Amino acid sequence: MENSKEMRKWLDDMKLDHPLVIAGPCSAETEEQVLKVAHELKDTDVSYYRAGIWKPRTRPGNFEGVGAIGLKWLQKVKEETGLKTATEVANRAHVDLALEYDVDLLWIGARSTVSPFIVQEIADALEGTDKIILVKNPVNPDLSLWLGAVERLSSANIEKLGVIHRGFSTYEKTKYRNIPEWQLAIELQTKFPDLPIINDPSHISGRRDLIFDVSQTALDLNFDGLMIETHCDPDNAWSDASQQVTPERLVQIMKDLQIRKETN
Ligand code: PEP
Ligand code: MN
Repeated sequence: MENSKEMRKWLDDMKLDHPLVIAGPCSAETEEQVLKVAHELKDTDVSYYRAGIWKPRTRPGNFEGVGAIGLKWLQKVKEETGLKTATEVANRAHVDLALEYDVDLLWIGARSTVSPFIVQEIADALEGTDKIILVKNPVNPDLSLWLGAVERLSSANIEKLGVIHRGFSTYEKTKYRNIPEWQLAIELQTKFPDLPIINDPSHISGRRDLIFDVSQTALDLNFDGLMIETHCDPDNAWSDASQQVTPERLVQIMKDLQIRKETN
C-alpha cells in the first residue's frame, strides 16, 4: 500500500470546516435510547452516529449487544435525523447484515485488528465496498499489525479507508484506560500522511474528565477527527458508563477545542 492523496478523498469530499465527528453511545441499548441520543446530536458538528450492536466484551456474562435488531434502529436514526450511521463489525455475518441495512461507516474493533484471520474474513466480505471502513489500532502497541489490517482492506479494493487511534493496553497503572502512545500514531501519520486518522478519546481515557485534553492533543497533532461516546444518561449506560458524555457536554467540548488543522 502506498500513500496517495486519493486516500483522503472521501474525507475531503465532505468539505467540513471542522474535524470529522463520530458520536453516539458505546452500545445501542433500546430503540428509545438510540433515537433520543440521535435527536440530540442532530444539529451539531456530528456527521456519523455510532452505536455498537455487537459488543466485544472482555469477559463473558456482560451485556453483549442487542444484535441485528439494532440495525433497524440505526435505519430509523438515518430517516428521522439525516445523520449517517456507524457500527463495529467483527466477522462476516456482521458485515453482511450491516451492508444489508445500509450502515454508512463500519469499523473494525481493537480486539479484531489483532487477528489477521478475522481481518481477512472481514476484508473478503467487504470486497469492493464503497462504505467507509475504519480500522482501530490493535490492543497491543504494534504498528505493523495495525497497518497490516489496513493493507488487507486496501487489497480487497476498499478505497474509503481510515484509522482510529483508541490507545493500547498496558499492565502499568496510569490515569488512562488505554495508554495513548502518541508516538505510534505519529509514526503512522509520517508513513501515511494522507490516510485519515481519527482519535477515540473515550477508550483512551476511560473517564469523562480526560476526554477534552486527549481530544485537544489529537487535534494539535493534526488528527482528522474524533470519535466520542455520547449517551443521554451516561452513568446508567449498559457499557463504558464512566467514559461517556452527554450530548450537551459533547457540544461544549467541540466549542472549546482549538482547531488547528494544517492545510497544505
Ligand atoms: C467501542 O468502540 O465501543 C469499542 C468496543 O471499542 P474498542 O474496539 O476500541 O475497544
Ligand atoms: Mn465503548
